Amino acid sequence: MSRDGSVSPMMSQYHEIKAEHEGALLFYRMGDFYEMFFDDAIVASEALGIALTKRGRTKSGDIPMCGVPVHSASGYLNQLIKKGFRVAVCEQTEDPAEARKRGSTAVVAREVVRLITPGTLTEETLLDARRHNHLAAVSIVREDSALAWADISSGALSVIPCPMVKLGPQIARIAPTELLVSESNLDRLERMLPEVEASLTPLAPVNFDSSAAERKLNDLFGVVALDGFGNFGRAEISAVGAIVAYLELTQKGKLPGLRPPVREQVADTLQIDAATRRNLEISEDFSGGRENSLIAAIDLTLTAGGARLLERRISAPSTSLAEIAARHDAIGHFVSAMEAKDAARDLLSGLPDIERALSRLCLERGGPRDAAAVSEGLSLADKIRERLTLEDLPGGLQIDNDNSTVLDGLKRHLQSALEKSPPLSVRDGNYIRDGFDAELDETRRLRDQARNVVAELQAEYVEETGIQSLKMKFNNILGYFIEVPAGHSSKLLAQPFSQTFIHRQTTANAARFTTHRLSELESRILGAGARADEIEKRIFEDLRVRISEAAPAINPVASWLAEVDLSAALAELAVARGWCRPEMNDRGALEISGGRHPVVEQALAKASGSPFISNDCVLDEPSGAGPRVQLLTGPNMSGKSTYLRQNALIALLAQSGSFVPAASARIGVASQLFSRVGAADELARGRSTFMVEMVETAAILNQADSGALVILDEIGRGTATYDGLSIAWATLEHLHDVNRCRALFATHYHELAMLSDRLDRLSNANVAVREWENDVIFLHEVRPGAADRSYGVQVAKLAGIPASVVARAREILDRLESGELEGSSRTANLLNDLPLFSSDAEIEQEPRPSASESEIENRLKAVNPDDLTPREALALIYKLADAVGCSSDG
Ligand code: ATP
Repeated sequence: MSRDGSVSPMMSQYHEIKAEHEGALLFYRMGDFYEMFFDDAIVASEALGIALTKRGRTKSGDIPMCGVPVHSASGYLNQLIKKGFRVAVCEQTEDPAEARKRGSTAVVAREVVRLITPGTLTEETLLDARRHNHLAAVSIVREDSALAWADISSGALSVIPCPMVKLGPQIARIAPTELLVSESNLDRLERMLPEVEASLTPLAPVNFDSSAAERKLNDLFGVVALDGFGNFGRAEISAVGAIVAYLELTQKGKLPGLRPPVREQVADTLQIDAATRRNLEISEDFSGGRENSLIAAIDLTLTAGGARLLERRISAPSTSLAEIAARHDAIGHFVSAMEAKDAARDLLSGLPDIERALSRLCLERGGPRDAAAVSEGLSLADKIRERLTLEDLPGGLQIDNDNSTVLDGLKRHLQSALEKSPPLSVRDGNYIRDGFDAELDETRRLRDQARNVVAELQAEYVEETGIQSLKMKFNNILGYFIEVPAGHSSKLLAQPFSQTFIHRQTTANAARFTTHRLSELESRILGAGARADEIEKRIFEDLRVRISEAAPAINPVASWLAEVDLSAALAELAVARGWCRPEMNDRGALEISGGRHPVVEQALAKASGSPFISNDCVLDEPSGAGPRVQLLTGPNMSGKSTYLRQNALIALLAQSGSFVPAASARIGVASQLFSRVGAADELARGRSTFMVEMVETAAILNQADSGALVILDEIGRGTATYDGLSIAWATLEHLHDVNRCRALFATHYHELAMLSDRLDRLSNANVAVREWENDVIFLHEVRPGAADRSYGVQVAKLAGIPASVVARAREILDRLESGELEGSSRTANLLNDLPLFSSDAEIEQEPRPSASESEIENRLKAVNPDDLTPREALALIYKLADAVGCSSDG
């Protein structure tokens, strides 16, 4: 506001632009800074931890302001987007000199050139190269609903018709960073999808209009009807249309090289809901990071494209036998052609991220380095193709050669145009090779010659004036100038030199001059330099357009390279860790022999080097007579959860197209995968432990079909014993009788084991332990039959529970187990019959060591427990037991 109370022209421009972008922070370009004002400044300065200053006043007080330098804006943008903000980037769209021509108070024209939101990022610095960044849209049209999603940093666009009850699992699979919904459905979806972690962006319903969307999509893909891409329903067209409308809005009319939508069906992929993904730690571990996730344990890909493909496959395992077989064939090929695999991996390790470079170029946001990435990527693809002998490759690794002429021409052109390691941005200049463009060469010659002439002129002036320390210099304020030490300035200020040398500036130690010849040379240099920059930019724009036009030919090469990388990486994994090719069928059984947990095995190898004990798992097909449901009992820490999860992960890996950690595996393709763990706290989401467990169990019992594979770990644990037992019991019966699916059910309720007498397709298994002198030794071996007891007290002792508490617990347990304390008044009897706990109570004291025990002590002192494998430890324990004359079965 000016002194007379009126708002300055610049502020009124600011308000006008801000009013159109209410939901976003406005980055308002002023010279070398993006400035923010008013509430934006307050919020952003706090979020970024930068100083809040002020600029001018309004009637109600100072105008708060903060700013970030343009050259380091991406770091700040990153922080803001991660904290859930959207940012409207407003640039100066004319030269300030042009604005001045309109009058001294004229404001430089400005425009929002882009709205940055979580789902529309393309910058390398703002994205994780190895993960997708999905923008998704949900549409509901009458009874139908659909989900569409795009990765604008690679141009992929997909859509799936999906009943509302299945939206949750689909969204969990795609894990969008931003989800578009119509304002008219917002409430309903928020209630229905409490699990969605994406940032929700409500849009006006008009963005979801399916008729307008159809016209827009026809135009975008240059077709008269979308039928050529698939038979899309109204809800699907509406969801895809909303994505395109939002991209137009946020990218201000420029669209990434979007590919035509690929239509998927719910039945094409293994259904895995959000809770199962979390429990199995597929792409994220419990801490929300990647470190202990499945994907981190198996990712040996060398390129960003390959890593993203792995993420896609692991998130959406296939249900198609043909598709899975093609992926297994590709891995099998590399397992048997190790040399070709190694050669391909050598080449792949230098591959740039073609997909993302291409998308930035299509969005007019890419620089010379992106163009070079495309060029290098295409050349590497040729080399890999030569090395792999295409005819020998299985179907999944084939690539058609239809576009080779277009691509060869483009490659040659880019190679002859671009310098070897060009800069990121066109602003940096000198990225077009000498010899590529005659006009550019000529202009550069002029510029460089003039620079040489400046050097010659310096020598001339030194001779003429006799001042040996005279130097030609350059800075941004004065341009080129002549500098002499202060002591010599009087000489140049006096006749005869004062006729030639024009004084410009005196500093503490020097005096600065110019001459007419120097000024002339300067304008020649600057003119030629600016012209060279302009020509380079023009050439780059031509390259950019050529690349964008060739995008439909480049994309399949990028996809092929990702496929080769992933197959070679999974082959490397299979060989290094002894994984086998699973035999897949549609008969609905599961037969795994020598199965291992891919993550726990790795963790053990890293931490202690101790081996993972492999285990078998057999669940029969629906029409067979063998068990469909396995009830697993065993002590805490014995390995029940590990066993359950490893079998689920083996099925998931197999259907993703990977080999599996087992000696052999025969897997009937599953339609759904469910995993629930009892007593998992989710207080952050406002549900009690028990409630979460029951909601998740309800989802399984209501949804699992006969093709499902279900693992349930300690269901019913979060409530009173009898309630929990009853719930677990009824759940088990329902799975067996109604869902009739394959299930592994781990429990502490040993009472459930007797159900196998009544349920003909239920079998009992237990994880074996050895007990010795009131301690347990975990063997981690799954064996037929139910466990005899829980060993909870022994495990508590191992955990360091004080000896007095352990002794007391054992006392109570003995009385309970002896049946002394029976019936409904069990606890009351307990209270009456057992003497009260006291730390001084007669806790059985450890007897003093006898002579033979000293001998045992000596033997124990001779070993370092950390150096022993579990088997060696067990052998030692047998020896010690023998030494004191005790039966090992005791
Ligand atoms: P709880 O009932 O307390 O949840 P649990 O029986 O489910 O225990 P897990 O959590 O599966 O036990 O396993 C405990 C630890 O035992 C694992 O972290 C792992 O280090 C080790 N372990 C499990 N299975 C094996 C195995 N097959 N081979 C070697 N070590 C194993």
